[in-house]
Amino acid sequence: MADDVLFERVALIGIGLIGSSLARLIKRDGLAGHIVANARSQATLDKVVELGIADSVAINVADAVAGADLVIICSPLGTYPAIGAAIKDHLADGAIVSDVGSVKAMVLRELGAVLPSHVHLVPAHPVAGTEHSGPEAGFADLFDGHWCILTPGPDTDATAVYRVKELWRRAGMKVDLMDAEHHDLVLAVTSHLPHLIAYNIVGTADDLETVTKSEVIKYAAGGFRDFTRIAASDPVMWRDVFLNNREAVLEMLGRFTEDLTALQRAIRWSDGDALHEMFTRTRAIRRGIIEAGQA
Ligand code: NAP
Repeated sequence: MADDVLFERVALIGIGLIGSSLARLIKRDGLAGHIVANARSQATLDKVVELGIADSVAINVADAVAGADLVIICSPLGTYPAIGAAIKDHLADGAIVSDVGSVKAMVLRELGAVLPSHVHLVPAHPVAGTEHSGPEAGFADLFDGHWCILTPGPDTDATAVYRVKELWRRAGMKVDLMDAEHHDLVLAVTSHLPHLIAYNIVGTADDLETVTKSEVIKYAAGGFRDFTRIAASDPVMWRDVFLNNREAVLEMLGRFTEDLTALQRAIRWSDGDALHEMFTRTRAIRRGIIEAGQA
């Protein structure tokens, strides 16, 4: 293999925003000898051929993974059980199976239980994305400068972990290893809860009978407009995130509700000091994010 080539044959199961971004990156930088793409529909695979982002396509997932030294599942979390069952008898000896899902404990649970012992499971979450979906939405620089979190089990082959780590490092990502449950708790507050709030606030505005839809759109200033962008995220992906990270999201939602009630109380009792103290604290957090280069 040439120096840049990390894998001989990479199978991407699901080739939407994340899968197609990865395909573009692997192709651009010559990180694999061959990329095979799989999706649920032939229409998506036809689009992949038209875009020229994979070397071959396979509508049958078992055909897609045959002979691959790296398989990355890039489809919604709810598809994992069926994909695991469909690929388990067709994986090459020593193959690495990874994914890009936004929830991690369920990967070890769903895939760890069915995959054969001759493959290595190295779950990953590239924490980068947009509100767009499908193979046209992807771009090779999507991951650049962001974090990727790997959550392998404690006994996972170190070389397999290193190879997955190296792939994401070459994508321009900073890579961290984390316990899967911890990942799910952290992401519940940093990503899942904000999405839930965005879905809810946009839904509330839409339901308001006293505010006509045209007014909601006409006066959609910064705050609300930002929420509408987040609330435009893929409904299937986000349904599966909440169904598969139930405990952590409910825990964070409980804390959030308590804090919201405290704010509600401060407004009711005209407690300006409490509001000012809270808003000053949050402003400092924003400054910290900017200073850490994560804005
Ligand atoms: P997407 O753009 O909607 O693409 C999903 C892809 O999965 C499509 O190619 C779809 O095929 C395919 N698919 C659906 N069911 C399938 C099945 N049963 N077998 C094989 N392929 C199937 O989704 P995405 O945004 O790339 O998200 C994919 C994963 O990345 C999710 O697990 C999500 O949690 C994770 N993630 C997303 C983001 C983000 O911001 N979007 C960020 C980080 C991680 P068809 O087109 O034929 O339906």
